[in-house]
Amino acid sequence: MKRIIPLLLLVIILCGCSVTSTYSGSFFAMDTYMTITVCGNNPEKAVKKAEARVKKLDEAFSAHNKKSGVYKLNKNGSAELEPDAVELLSLALNNYRITDGAFNPAMLSVTELWGFPDKNYKVPSENEIKSAHKNVKPEKITVKNNTVKLNNKGMKIDFGAIAKGYTSDKLIDTLKKEGIKSALVNLGGNVAVLGGKPDGSDWAVAVENPDKKGSYLATLKIRDKSVITSGGYERYFKKNGKVYHHILNPKTGHPAESSLKSVTIVGKNGTYCDALSTALFVMGKEKALRFWAENGLDFDVILYTENGGLFVTEGVSDIINSDFDYKVVKRSDYE
Ligand code: AMP
Ligand code: MG
Repeated sequence: MKRIIPLLLLVIILCGCSVTSTYSGSFFAMDTYMTITVCGNNPEKAVKKAEARVKKLDEAFSAHNKKSGVYKLNKNGSAELEPDAVELLSLALNNYRITDGAFNPAMLSVTELWGFPDKNYKVPSENEIKSAHKNVKPEKITVKNNTVKLNNKGMKIDFGAIAKGYTSDKLIDTLKKEGIKSALVNLGGNVAVLGGKPDGSDWAVAVENPDKKGSYLATLKIRDKSVITSGGYERYFKKNGKVYHHILNPKTGHPAESSLKSVTIVGKNGTYCDALSTALFVMGKEKALRFWAENGLDFDVILYTENGGLFVTEGVSDIINSDFDYKVVKRSDYE
């Protein structure tokens, strides 16, 4: 029973700013270590503002902080949420729809049965799963002004698969408002960059190798983009030789068995990248690549399979550097 790879290491940043007006702040929020690196005028002030924003969003989105609207919603079935939480709920429900339910933000009562939120891991009985699972009906959620009603006893909201992506988008906005043009935010391995590095070159972000802590599958040269990874290796436990990880298949209430080790999404919108990294992990390789090819959203994918296959979609083929053999997937493969 362990969590071998801290989320902090999920993506490792390979380079930083090299000008004098650089400030980097690290802190713990949303159950992970975060680092915000800013280059520009008065970077410390911008980092402090960003940190304060994260702390507020953490309180708004947490399912476990008693002060949070989400906590009250899950407890009482109805609550007024912070405007950010209302916006995030609407984005989460949209991702639920476009992924045909592979992303499901209302699975907390099932996730709790497996003990993932409090790390008190156990394998629930099929009856327990069935009785919690039957209450998971995101279609029933209603929102009026900022008051959210779940309209289904036993259903609970969990923003764990989307909150950090949304937060990174909001942090980039905050930094822009401070006049910053070059920054990197690393929210426990979920990375977003603003602009390029101060010397004008691209940021280099590494995608961790799930098989070997501290080594990389690839590095990517990016600017104004997010790079977000989901993988079963991030949080799991073992029982009787079987591995149970934290990403559930919403159709079964069990950990997704999709033959993938990790899914990395690269795109301009961190919220989508976060939701889609989780959803495409659940879908498995073929469904995920078809979704990428057909759904019309602007993002790219790096898939790493259980048997060591590395697949990258065509949009990243000229920004990726990898020692692994990889296959470039084209949209035309799916016509
Ligand atoms: P991520 O690391 O972004 O893939 O998010 C994983 C976390 O999201 C888990 O620890 C759960 O809290 C929650 N979760 C698990 N499975 C799903 C799912 N299929 N859809 C949405 N959230 C999920
Ligand atoms: Mg996610």
